[in-house]
Amino acid sequence: MSDNSPIIRTDAPAPAGYEGEGFFATRLSSVVGLARKYSLWPLPFATSCCGIEFMATLNPNYDASRFGIERNSFSPRQADMLMVCGTISKKLAPVLKEVYTQMAEPKWVIAVGACASSGGIFDTYSVLQGIDKIIPVDVYVPGCPPRPEQIIEGVIQVQELAQGESLRRRDSEEYQQLLDSYGIK
Ligand code: SF4
Repeated sequence: MSDNSPIIRTDAPAPAGYEGEGFFATRLSSVVGLARKYSLWPLPFATSCCGIEFMATLNPNYDASRFGIERNSFSPRQADMLMVCGTISKKLAPVLKEVYTQMAEPKWVIAVGACASSGGIFDTYSVLQGIDKIIPVDVYVPGCPPRPEQIIEGVIQVQELAQGESLRRRDSEEYQQLLDSYGIK
């Protein structure tokens, strides 16, 4: 293989199943989960310093494409992992919620850093004290700011959720109740 040959990934493990001579059988949900895990498309909702750490996560040092997340989307309808990086003012909160509701299911949310998780150091009248006041959050990444390694760890947590999620979860009563609790249709 020459140095210019494309790198072929061979490290995605096969889902659990039954293997025999000339056949391999597994569950549809295992295959779908595996595909979702390695094809998350992030929507970076970056408002301040944590956004810079997210940008660093994409650079060659950290190489986020190892996790299949290099295809950033700034269109909510073509993204399934909302990454909220930075301080969210109460004035901006309805915009964030609108972006979330425009994303198709299934979708996951990461609160990147202290501000997105809890308001951080900005315990003031104008700052939302955590994005989970307005939208459901799947993973919280601590830190002010979190290092790129922590952001990657958050992505890996979402990958685990995506891989293990039942195909019926988004149609379940519990999930509908969760959305109802946020006033999301
Ligand atoms: S958590 Fe810290 S680094 Fe991140 S946006 Fe807030 S103040 Fe900035």
